[in-house]
Amino acid sequence: MSKPRPKSFGNLIVEVIRTGRCTFCGACVAACPEDVLELQTEAPTIKGKCTVCQTCYFSCPQTSLDLETVERKVFGRKRKEEEKLGIMLEACFARTLDPEISTVGQDGGAVTAILENIIQEKSASCAVVSTCDRDLPWKPFPNVATDRESIVLGAGTKYTPSPTLIGLVKAAQDFKGKQVAVVGTPCQVKAIRKIQTSSEISSEIIPEDLLTVGLFCMESYSYESLIGEFLPSKAVDPTEVTKFAIKKGRFLVYSNGEERINVPLKEVKTHVRKACHSCRDFTAELADLSVGSVDAPPGWSTLVLRNQKALDAVQDAEKSGRLEVRKIPNPKETLRVTQRLSERKNQQPEKNSS
Ligand SMILES: Cc1cc2nc3c(=O)[nH]c(=O)nc-3n(C[C@H](O)[C@H](O)[C@H](O)COP(=O)(O)OP(=O)(O)OC[C@H]3O[C@@H](n4cnc5c(N)ncnc54)[C@H](O)[C@@H]3O)c2cc1C
Repeated sequence: MSKPRPKSFGNLIVEVIRTGRCTFCGACVAACPEDVLELQTEAPTIKGKCTVCQTCYFSCPQTSLDLETVERKVFGRKRKEEEKLGIMLEACFARTLDPEISTVGQDGGAVTAILENIIQEKSASCAVVSTCDRDLPWKPFPNVATDRESIVLGAGTKYTPSPTLIGLVKAAQDFKGKQVAVVGTPCQVKAIRKIQTSSEISSEIIPEDLLTVGLFCMESYSYESLIGEFLPSKAVDPTEVTKFAIKKGRFLVYSNGEERINVPLKEVKTHVRKACHSCRDFTAELADLSVGSVDAPPGWSTLVLRNQKALDAVQDAEKSGRLEVRKIPNPKETLRVTQRLSERKNQQPEKNSS
Protein backbone atom coordinates (compact mmCIF):
# COMPACT_ATOMS: atom_id res chain seq x y z
CA MET A 1 0.00 0.00 0.00
CA SER A 2 1.40 3.42 -0.94
CA LYS A 3 2.05 5.99 1.82
CA PRO A 4 -0.66 8.70 2.13
CA ARG A 5 0.38 12.06 0.65
CA PRO A 6 1.55 14.57 3.29
CA LYS A 7 -1.08 17.09 4.28
CA SER A 8 -0.63 20.74 3.35
CA PHE A 9 -2.51 23.95 4.12
CA GLY A 10 -4.23 23.27 0.79
CA ASN A 11 -5.89 20.24 2.38
CA LEU A 12 -7.20 22.45 5.19
CA ILE A 13 -8.53 24.93 2.65
CA VAL A 14 -10.43 22.20 0.80
CA GLU A 15 -11.63 20.13 3.76
CA VAL A 16 -12.18 22.71 6.50
CA ILE A 17 -12.09 26.34 5.37
CA ARG A 18 -14.11 26.24 2.14
CA THR A 19 -16.64 23.91 3.72
CA GLY A 20 -17.28 26.49 6.46
CA ARG A 21 -16.00 24.19 9.21
CA CYS A 22 -13.15 26.37 10.50
CA THR A 23 -13.71 27.11 14.21
CA PHE A 24 -11.30 30.09 14.21
CA CYS A 25 -9.37 28.58 17.14
CA GLY A 26 -6.07 29.91 15.74
CA ALA A 27 -4.26 26.54 16.06
CA CYS A 28 -2.98 26.36 12.48
CA VAL A 29 -1.67 29.93 12.49
CA ALA A 30 -0.08 29.58 15.92
CA ALA A 31 1.50 26.20 15.16
CA CYS A 32 2.88 26.94 11.68
CA PRO A 33 6.70 26.68 12.06
CA GLU A 34 7.27 28.73 8.89
CA ASP A 35 4.98 31.53 10.06
CA VAL A 36 3.26 31.70 6.68
CA LEU A 37 -0.32 31.63 7.92
CA GLU A 38 -2.33 34.54 9.25
CA LEU A 39 -5.81 35.20 10.56
CA GLN A 40 -8.40 36.96 8.49
CA THR A 41 -12.07 37.48 9.22
CA GLU A 42 -12.88 34.28 11.10
CA ALA A 43 -10.61 32.04 8.98
CA PRO A 44 -6.89 31.62 8.33
CA THR A 45 -5.15 32.43 5.07
CA ILE A 46 -1.68 31.81 3.61
CA LYS A 47 0.77 34.67 2.99
CA GLY A 48 3.88 32.66 1.98
CA LYS A 49 4.96 29.24 0.75
CA CYS A 50 3.62 26.08 2.43
CA THR A 51 6.41 23.55 3.12
CA VAL A 52 3.88 20.73 3.61
CA CYS A 53 5.12 20.05 7.16
CA GLN A 54 1.57 18.91 8.09
CA THR A 55 1.54 20.91 11.34
CA CYS A 56 -1.52 23.02 10.46
CA TYR A 57 -3.48 20.00 9.31
CA PHE A 58 -2.88 17.85 12.37
CA SER A 59 -3.40 20.67 14.86
CA CYS A 60 -6.82 21.52 13.42
CA PRO A 61 -9.73 20.39 15.64
CA GLN A 62 -11.79 19.73 12.50
CA THR A 63 -9.56 17.03 11.01
CA SER A 64 -9.91 13.50 12.34
CA LEU A 65 -9.23 12.70 15.97
CA ASP A 66 -8.85 9.29 17.57
CA LEU A 67 -10.82 9.93 20.77
CA GLU A 68 -9.75 6.74 22.52
CA THR A 69 -6.04 7.44 21.96
CA VAL A 70 -6.42 11.03 23.16
CA GLU A 71 -8.34 9.97 26.29
CA ARG A 72 -5.74 7.34 27.13
CA LYS A 73 -2.91 9.87 26.76
CA VAL A 74 -4.68 12.69 28.61
CA PHE A 75 -6.67 10.83 31.30
CA GLY A 76 -4.91 7.46 31.37
CA ARG A 77 -8.01 5.56 30.25
CA LYS A 78 -10.87 5.67 27.79
CA ARG A 79 -14.34 6.71 28.95
CA LYS A 80 -16.82 4.13 30.13
CA GLU A 81 -20.06 3.62 28.23
CA GLU A 82 -22.07 5.28 31.01
CA GLU A 83 -19.86 8.42 31.17
CA LYS A 84 -22.16 10.54 29.04
CA LEU A 85 -20.39 13.81 29.93
CA GLY A 86 -16.95 12.33 29.29
CA ILE A 87 -14.48 11.25 31.94
CA MET A 88 -15.39 12.79 35.31
CA LEU A 89 -13.98 12.39 38.83
CA GLU A 90 -16.56 14.61 40.46
CA ALA A 91 -18.83 17.60 39.89
CA CYS A 92 -19.71 20.66 41.96
CA PHE A 93 -21.34 24.07 41.87
CA ALA A 94 -18.99 26.95 42.65
CA ARG A 95 -18.97 30.73 42.84
CA THR A 96 -16.43 33.45 43.48
CA LEU A 97 -16.20 35.02 46.92
CA ASP A 98 -14.73 38.19 45.44
CA PRO A 99 -17.32 41.00 45.02
CA GLU A 100 -15.54 42.52 41.98
CA ILE A 101 -15.33 39.18 40.13
CA SER A 102 -18.92 38.46 41.07
CA THR A 103 -19.98 41.62 39.19
CA VAL A 104 -18.05 40.90 36.00
CA GLY A 105 -18.19 37.06 35.92
CA GLN A 106 -20.65 35.51 33.52
CA ASP A 107 -22.31 33.10 35.97
CA GLY A 108 -20.64 32.25 39.29
CA GLY A 109 -17.34 33.86 38.27
CA ALA A 110 -15.77 30.48 39.13
CA VAL A 111 -13.43 30.46 36.13
CA THR A 112 -12.01 33.89 36.92
CA ALA A 113 -11.68 33.06 40.63
CA ILE A 114 -9.75 29.84 39.86
CA LEU A 115 -7.45 31.60 37.37
CA GLU A 116 -6.83 34.46 39.77
CA ASN A 117 -5.93 31.99 42.48
CA ILE A 118 -3.40 30.28 40.21
CA ILE A 119 -1.58 33.43 39.20
CA GLN A 120 -1.57 34.84 42.75
CA GLU A 121 -0.44 31.64 44.44
CA LYS A 122 2.01 30.19 41.88
CA SER A 123 4.87 32.48 41.02
CA ALA A 124 5.44 33.39 37.36
CA SER A 125 2.40 31.47 36.15
CA CYS A 126 -0.04 32.93 33.62
CA ALA A 127 -3.52 32.38 32.23
CA VAL A 128 -4.74 32.70 28.66
CA VAL A 129 -8.09 34.46 28.71
CA SER A 130 -10.15 36.18 26.01
CA THR A 131 -10.40 39.93 26.27
CA CYS A 132 -12.35 42.31 24.06
CA ASP A 133 -10.46 44.27 21.45
CA ARG A 134 -10.05 47.99 22.23
CA ASP A 135 -11.21 49.14 18.78
CA LEU A 136 -13.78 46.48 17.83
CA PRO A 137 -16.51 46.22 20.48
CA TRP A 138 -16.99 42.65 21.79
CA LYS A 139 -14.38 41.18 19.44
CA PRO A 140 -12.50 38.68 21.64
CA PHE A 141 -8.78 38.11 21.35
CA PRO A 142 -6.54 35.96 23.57
CA ASN A 143 -4.54 37.71 26.25
CA VAL A 144 -1.75 36.13 28.27
CA ALA A 145 -2.71 37.44 31.68
CA THR A 146 -0.17 37.62 34.49
CA ASP A 147 -1.94 39.81 37.02
CA ARG A 148 -5.33 40.13 38.67
CA GLU A 149 -6.32 43.13 36.58
CA SER A 150 -5.96 41.35 33.23
CA ILE A 151 -7.62 38.16 34.50
CA VAL A 152 -10.61 40.20 35.68
CA LEU A 153 -10.66 42.14 32.40
CA GLY A 154 -11.13 38.80 30.58
CA ALA A 155 -14.16 37.74 32.67
CA GLY A 156 -17.55 37.30 31.01
CA THR A 157 -18.69 35.41 27.93
CA LYS A 158 -18.04 36.61 24.40
CA TYR A 159 -20.30 34.57 22.16
CA THR A 160 -18.06 34.96 19.09
CA PRO A 161 -14.89 32.92 18.52
CA SER A 162 -11.53 33.84 19.96
CA PRO A 163 -8.32 32.44 18.40
CA THR A 164 -7.19 31.16 21.81
CA LEU A 165 -4.36 28.98 20.48
CA ILE A 166 -2.47 32.12 19.41
CA GLY A 167 -2.31 33.18 23.07
CA LEU A 168 -1.47 29.71 24.29
CA VAL A 169 1.52 29.27 21.97
CA LYS A 170 2.77 32.72 22.99
CA ALA A 171 2.42 31.71 26.66
CA ALA A 172 4.47 28.56 25.98
CA GLN A 173 7.26 30.69 24.50
CA ASP A 174 7.23 33.40 27.17
CA PHE A 175 6.64 31.17 30.22
CA LYS A 176 8.78 28.11 29.49
CA GLY A 177 8.64 25.61 32.35
CA LYS A 178 5.95 27.56 34.27
CA GLN A 179 2.35 26.62 34.92
CA VAL A 180 -0.07 27.97 32.32
CA ALA A 181 -3.86 27.89 32.51
CA VAL A 182 -6.01 28.34 29.42
CA VAL A 183 -9.74 28.89 28.97
CA GLY A 184 -11.41 27.74 25.78
CA THR A 185 -14.48 26.40 24.09
CA PRO A 186 -14.71 22.65 23.32
CA CYS A 187 -13.20 23.08 19.82
CA GLN A 188 -10.27 25.04 21.23
CA VAL A 189 -9.63 22.36 23.85
CA LYS A 190 -9.78 19.74 21.10
CA ALA A 191 -7.08 21.61 19.14
CA ILE A 192 -4.87 21.67 22.25
CA ARG A 193 -5.30 17.93 22.77
CA LYS A 194 -4.60 17.21 19.11
CA ILE A 195 -1.28 19.04 19.27
CA GLN A 196 -0.39 17.42 22.61
CA THR A 197 -1.10 13.88 21.44
CA SER A 198 -0.49 13.80 17.67
CA SER A 199 2.19 11.42 16.45
CA GLU A 200 2.53 13.49 13.25
CA ILE A 201 3.62 16.84 14.74
CA SER A 202 5.62 18.26 17.65
CA SER A 203 3.81 19.04 20.88
CA GLU A 204 6.52 21.45 22.09
CA ILE A 205 4.49 24.53 21.20
CA ILE A 206 2.02 23.71 23.99
CA PRO A 207 3.10 24.46 27.59
CA GLU A 208 4.07 21.27 29.41
CA ASP A 209 2.46 22.24 32.72
CA LEU A 210 -0.99 23.19 31.46
CA LEU A 211 -4.44 23.39 33.05
CA THR A 212 -7.20 23.44 30.43
CA VAL A 213 -10.48 25.00 31.51
CA GLY A 214 -13.17 24.16 28.94
CA LEU A 215 -16.43 26.09 28.68
CA PHE A 216 -19.74 24.35 28.02
CA CYS A 217 -20.78 25.51 24.56
CA MET A 218 -23.86 24.82 22.47
CA GLU A 219 -22.77 27.18 19.70
CA SER A 220 -20.90 30.33 18.92
CA TYR A 221 -21.84 33.20 16.60
CA SER A 222 -20.20 34.98 13.72
CA TYR A 223 -18.81 38.35 14.84
CA GLU A 224 -19.71 40.14 11.64
CA SER A 225 -23.20 38.77 11.74
CA LEU A 226 -24.09 39.03 15.47
CA ILE A 227 -22.36 42.27 16.35
CA GLY A 228 -22.42 43.83 12.90
CA GLU A 229 -25.98 42.95 11.84
CA PHE A 230 -28.14 41.58 14.65
CA LEU A 231 -27.43 44.33 17.22
CA PRO A 232 -28.01 47.21 14.74
CA SER A 233 -31.21 45.48 13.59
CA LYS A 234 -32.47 45.92 17.17
CA ALA A 235 -31.16 49.50 17.33
CA VAL A 236 -28.51 48.52 19.89
CA ASP A 237 -25.05 50.08 19.63
CA PRO A 238 -22.42 47.37 20.40
CA THR A 239 -20.36 49.85 22.43
CA GLU A 240 -23.26 50.19 24.89
CA VAL A 241 -23.53 46.44 25.56
CA THR A 242 -22.13 45.32 28.90
CA LYS A 243 -23.24 41.68 28.90
CA PHE A 244 -24.62 38.95 26.63
CA ALA A 245 -26.30 35.86 28.07
CA ILE A 246 -28.23 32.80 26.99
CA LYS A 247 -30.81 31.64 29.51
CA LYS A 248 -33.67 29.19 29.27
CA GLY A 249 -33.84 29.30 25.48
CA ARG A 250 -33.57 33.10 25.23
CA PHE A 251 -30.81 35.36 23.95
CA LEU A 252 -30.30 38.36 26.22
CA VAL A 253 -28.35 41.57 25.80
CA TYR A 254 -27.76 44.04 28.66
CA SER A 255 -26.48 47.56 29.01
CA ASN A 256 -25.40 48.38 32.59
CA GLY A 257 -27.92 45.95 34.07
CA GLU A 258 -30.77 47.11 31.83
CA GLU A 259 -32.18 44.47 29.49
CA ARG A 260 -31.95 45.74 25.89
CA ILE A 261 -32.74 42.56 23.93
CA ASN A 262 -34.66 39.47 25.04
CA VAL A 263 -35.54 37.18 22.12
CA PRO A 264 -36.05 33.46 21.64
CA LEU A 265 -32.79 31.72 20.69
CA LYS A 266 -34.26 30.75 17.34
CA GLU A 267 -34.19 34.43 16.36
CA VAL A 268 -30.38 34.40 16.43
CA LYS A 269 -29.97 30.94 14.84
CA THR A 270 -29.01 32.43 11.47
CA HIS A 271 -25.98 34.06 13.12
CA VAL A 272 -24.59 30.72 14.45
CA ARG A 273 -21.27 29.77 12.85
CA LYS A 274 -21.56 26.93 10.36
CA ALA A 275 -18.72 25.04 12.08
CA CYS A 276 -20.88 24.62 15.19
CA HIS A 277 -23.47 22.57 13.30
CA SER A 278 -21.17 19.55 13.19
CA CYS A 279 -19.70 19.85 16.70
CA ARG A 280 -20.68 17.04 19.06
CA ASP A 281 -19.06 18.23 22.26
CA PHE A 282 -21.16 20.34 24.67
CA THR A 283 -19.14 20.12 27.89
CA ALA A 284 -15.55 20.31 26.57
CA GLU A 285 -15.07 16.64 27.28
CA LEU A 286 -11.31 16.74 26.77
CA ALA A 287 -10.62 19.59 29.22
CA ASP A 288 -9.18 19.02 32.70
CA LEU A 289 -11.97 21.14 34.16
CA SER A 290 -15.23 22.03 32.38
CA VAL A 291 -17.45 24.94 33.44
CA GLY A 292 -20.92 26.09 32.39
CA SER A 293 -24.13 27.51 33.75
CA VAL A 294 -26.62 24.76 32.93
CA ASP A 295 -28.15 23.09 36.01
CA ALA A 296 -26.46 25.59 38.37
CA PRO A 297 -28.50 27.78 40.77
CA PRO A 298 -28.52 31.48 39.73
CA GLY A 299 -25.16 33.10 40.48
CA TRP A 300 -23.28 29.78 40.52
CA SER A 301 -21.31 27.84 37.88
CA THR A 302 -21.44 24.09 37.22
CA LEU A 303 -18.02 22.43 37.33
CA VAL A 304 -17.06 19.01 35.93
CA LEU A 305 -13.69 17.91 37.35
CA ARG A 306 -12.10 15.32 35.10
CA ASN A 307 -8.69 14.69 36.66
CA GLN A 308 -6.38 15.46 39.60
CA LYS A 309 -5.25 18.76 38.05
CA ALA A 310 -8.82 20.00 38.13
CA LEU A 311 -9.33 18.78 41.72
CA ASP A 312 -6.18 20.60 42.83
CA ALA A 313 -7.14 23.85 41.07
CA VAL A 314 -10.62 23.91 42.62
CA GLN A 315 -9.46 22.82 46.09
CA ASP A 316 -6.65 25.40 46.11
CA ALA A 317 -9.07 28.21 45.19
CA GLU A 318 -11.46 27.04 47.90
CA LYS A 319 -8.72 26.81 50.55
CA SER A 320 -7.46 30.31 49.78
CA GLY A 321 -10.96 31.69 50.35
CA ARG A 322 -11.50 32.76 46.73
CA LEU A 323 -14.10 30.14 45.80
CA GLU A 324 -17.19 28.71 47.49
CA VAL A 325 -17.83 25.10 46.50
CA ARG A 326 -20.92 22.89 46.87
CA LYS A 327 -20.23 19.27 46.01
CA ILE A 328 -22.77 17.44 43.87
CA PRO A 329 -23.15 14.00 45.47
CA ASN A 330 -25.02 12.45 42.57
CA PRO A 331 -24.10 14.20 39.28
CA LYS A 332 -26.23 11.82 37.20
CA GLU A 333 -29.36 12.94 39.04
CA THR A 334 -28.43 16.62 39.43
CA LEU A 335 -26.91 17.42 36.03
CA ARG A 336 -29.92 16.28 34.01
CA VAL A 337 -30.16 19.24 31.63
CA THR A 338 -26.40 19.15 31.03
CA GLN A 339 -26.70 15.48 30.07
CA ARG A 340 -29.72 16.13 27.85
CA LEU A 341 -27.97 18.96 25.98
CA SER A 342 -24.85 16.83 25.69
CA GLU A 343 -26.78 13.98 24.18
CA ARG A 344 -28.59 16.34 21.82
CA LYS A 345 -25.32 17.82 20.61
CA ASN A 346 -23.76 14.40 20.32
CA GLN A 347 -26.39 13.51 17.74
CA GLN A 348 -25.34 16.28 15.35
CA PRO A 349 -23.79 14.88 12.18
CA GLU A 350 -20.02 14.96 12.60
CA LYS A 351 -18.32 15.85 9.36
CA ASN A 352 -14.74 15.01 10.22
CA SER A 353 -12.52 14.07 7.37
CA SER A 354 -9.99 11.28 7.73
C1 LIG B 1 -19.35 30.74 22.77
C2 LIG B 1 -19.80 30.27 24.14
C3 LIG B 1 -20.99 29.56 24.27
C4 LIG B 1 -21.40 29.08 25.52
N1 LIG B 1 -22.54 28.34 25.63
C5 LIG B 1 -22.92 27.83 26.81
C6 LIG B 1 -24.09 27.02 26.92
O1 LIG B 1 -24.76 26.76 25.91
N2 LIG B 1 -24.42 26.54 28.13
C7 LIG B 1 -23.65 26.80 29.27
O2 LIG B 1 -24.00 26.33 30.36
N3 LIG B 1 -22.55 27.56 29.19
C8 LIG B 1 -22.16 28.08 28.01
N4 LIG B 1 -21.03 28.85 27.92
C9 LIG B 1 -20.22 29.07 29.14
C10 LIG B 1 -20.77 30.19 30.01
O3 LIG B 1 -21.16 31.30 29.22
C11 LIG B 1 -19.70 30.66 31.04
O4 LIG B 1 -18.49 30.95 30.37
C12 LIG B 1 -19.42 29.61 32.08
O5 LIG B 1 -20.61 29.29 32.75
C13 LIG B 1 -18.38 30.09 33.10
O6 LIG B 1 -18.95 31.11 33.86
P1 LIG B 1 -18.07 31.87 34.95
O7 LIG B 1 -18.88 32.96 35.54
O8 LIG B 1 -17.45 30.85 35.84
O9 LIG B 1 -16.93 32.47 33.98
P2 LIG B 1 -16.11 33.86 34.10
O10 LIG B 1 -15.51 33.96 35.45
O11 LIG B 1 -16.92 34.98 33.58
O12 LIG B 1 -14.92 33.54 33.06
C14 LIG B 1 -15.20 33.25 31.73
C15 LIG B 1 -13.89 32.91 31.04
O13 LIG B 1 -14.16 32.52 29.71
C16 LIG B 1 -13.30 33.21 28.81
N5 LIG B 1 -14.02 33.41 27.55
C17 LIG B 1 -15.07 34.22 27.33
N6 LIG B 1 -15.47 34.15 26.05
C18 LIG B 1 -14.64 33.29 25.44
C19 LIG B 1 -14.52 32.80 24.11
N7 LIG B 1 -15.35 33.21 23.13
N8 LIG B 1 -13.56 31.89 23.84
C20 LIG B 1 -12.69 31.48 24.80
N9 LIG B 1 -12.75 31.92 26.09
C21 LIG B 1 -13.70 32.80 26.40
C22 LIG B 1 -13.01 34.52 29.51
O14 LIG B 1 -11.82 35.11 29.06
C23 LIG B 1 -12.93 34.09 30.98
O15 LIG B 1 -11.65 33.67 31.33
C24 LIG B 1 -20.60 29.35 26.67
C25 LIG B 1 -19.40 30.08 26.54
C26 LIG B 1 -19.00 30.53 25.28
C27 LIG B 1 -17.69 31.29 25.15
